[in-house]
Amino acid sequence: MKRLILLSAAVLVFTGTLCGQVRHEMVVPDIPGFVTLKGDMHIHTTFSDGTVWPTTRIDECVWEGLDVLCITDHVDGRLQKYTKDGTFNADKVDRNTSFKMMEKYARDKGVVVIHGGEITSQIMPPGHMNAIFVTDNNPLGKAMDDVYPDRQPEGADAAVRLARKQNAFVTWNHPNWCRQAPDTTVIYPIHEQYRKEGLINGVEIYNWWDGYCKEGHHWAVEHNLTLMSGTDSHHPMFMDIDFLAGELRPVTLIFTRERSREGVREALDHQRTAVFAEGRVYGSADLLTPLLDACVQVEEVIKTKTKLSIRVYNASSIPVILDKAPGSEQWQISRHVTLHPFEHQVLTLYRLNTKDPLESDVFDLHYRVDNFFTDADVRLPWVLHIEKH
Ligand SMILES: [Zn+2]
Ligand SMILES: [Zn+2]
Repeated sequence: MKRLILLSAAVLVFTGTLCGQVRHEMVVPDIPGFVTLKGDMHIHTTFSDGTVWPTTRIDECVWEGLDVLCITDHVDGRLQKYTKDGTFNADKVDRNTSFKMMEKYARDKGVVVIHGGEITSQIMPPGHMNAIFVTDNNPLGKAMDDVYPDRQPEGADAAVRLARKQNAFVTWNHPNWCRQAPDTTVIYPIHEQYRKEGLINGVEIYNWWDGYCKEGHHWAVEHNLTLMSGTDSHHPMFMDIDFLAGELRPVTLIFTRERSREGVREALDHQRTAVFAEGRVYGSADLLTPLLDACVQVEEVIKTKTKLSIRVYNASSIPVILDKAPGSEQWQISRHVTLHPFEHQVLTLYRLNTKDPLESDVFDLHYRVDNFFTDADVRLPWVLHIEKH
C-alpha cells in the first residue's frame, strides 16, 4: 500500500507538470540593426467565430514567447457567432470589441497587439483578406453585410478600399485554402489588379489550416510583397499546436527597428519579414543570411596539423539543416549536418587526403541550407566562416 501511495504521489507531481507549468518559449535571435519579433498575424476570438476570449489570446502569446499579435476577427456579421445567437448584444455590435478588450492587457504583458479584421468573401475571387492597422472595423463589416450573400466579392472590394483609406496593411489570406482552391492555387486577375493598385500589401504564405503556399510565396517574391503567416486559430492554442510533442506555433519573424506597433508597421512596409513554420524558414537572402549567422555560433576551434574541430551551437528554436555545397570540395567534412535547436555539435574537417596538413587558419565552408527557402523550391546558400585565432 505504501508503495502504491508513493506511486500515486509521483503520478500527481508528473501530471502537475504536464498540466501547464512548462512554458514553450520560442527563441529567435536579433540580427544586426534589427530586433527580431515573433508574431501571429491572423487569429480569431469569441468576437467572431472563435472560442477563445481576447485576453486569453495574449496569455497564449506570453506562454510561447510571442511578441506580436494581430487580432483579425471576421468583420462580417454572418460570422459574429455569439452576437448572432444572442450571447452578446446584437443591437450594439461593435466589431472592434476584441481589440479594445485586449489592448491594455497586452500592453501590461508586453505584447504588441495590432488591430485588424478579416474580410471574408466565401465566393472566389478574391477570397479572404486581412486588414491590419485598421482604425474601425464597423464600416468594413457593414459593407460586407449590405451585399450578403450573393455579392460578397463586391462587399469585399468595398471593405478593402475602406480599409486602405484607414491606412490599413492588407494581406491576401491562405490562397491555397482547399475550399477555395480545391486542387490548384489560382492568382486571379483581381489579385493582380489589387496588387497594382496597392490594395494587397502582403501574402499569407503559411496558414496553420492549409500549410505552406508555394504559389503564394513565389508571387510575393516576384512582386516584392511582404511574407506573412498566421495560425488562423479559432480554438485554444494547445488544441492546434501539440506543444508536448515539441511543435511550435507558426510565426512571422518581423525585423524591426523598435519593439512597438510603429516598428512593426515600418518593417512590414519594407518587406522585412520571414516565416518560420514546421521547422522551415521562408524569406529573402538578405534577412535569412544574418539570421542564420546569429543562430549558428562557432564556440571553439581546435586545430592540429591535419584536423580542425569546430564546436558549433544553435542558439535558437529553429533547426538548421546543412548540405555541403560547391566551394567546399577540398575539404573532408560531413556532407549533411542537422543542428537541432539549442544543440552543441562538433564538426571535424580534414583535407581530402587526411594526412595532408591544414595550411590555412581561415576556412569558408559552403553549404546549402535545406530548410531555409528564398523562393518556392529555392534553398539558401550559406557560408560558415571559421577562423582559428
Ligand atoms: Zn480566412
Ligand atoms: Zn481567419
